[in-house]
Amino acid sequence: MKVTALTNRCIASGACVLAASQVFTQRESDGVVELLQEHPSLDQLQKVQQAVAACPSQVFVMEEEDDLSELTLTINDQDM
Ligand code: SF4
Repeated sequence: MKVTALTNRCIASGACVLAASQVFTQRESDGVVELLQEHPSLDQLQKVQQAVAACPSQVFVMEEEDDLSELTLTINDQDM
């Protein structure tokens, strides 16, 4: 599964960090989401899915949702 964070949408709520603190953090200057790891182990999958669901601002876009053999996270800070 691939998850892209569209950081321009981030409103710095911190919900993703609460759900998956080993994967997400928030930039110190403005609270925008940052990645702690781009290839978390699969035991983080459920927490990442919870973070995606908890985000109030639809920051995360999931691709290849059926492929659960690996987990890849990326940041996209361009306006989409
Ligand atoms: S839950 Fe969404 S809006 Fe809140 S910090 Fe994380 S990415 Fe940003």
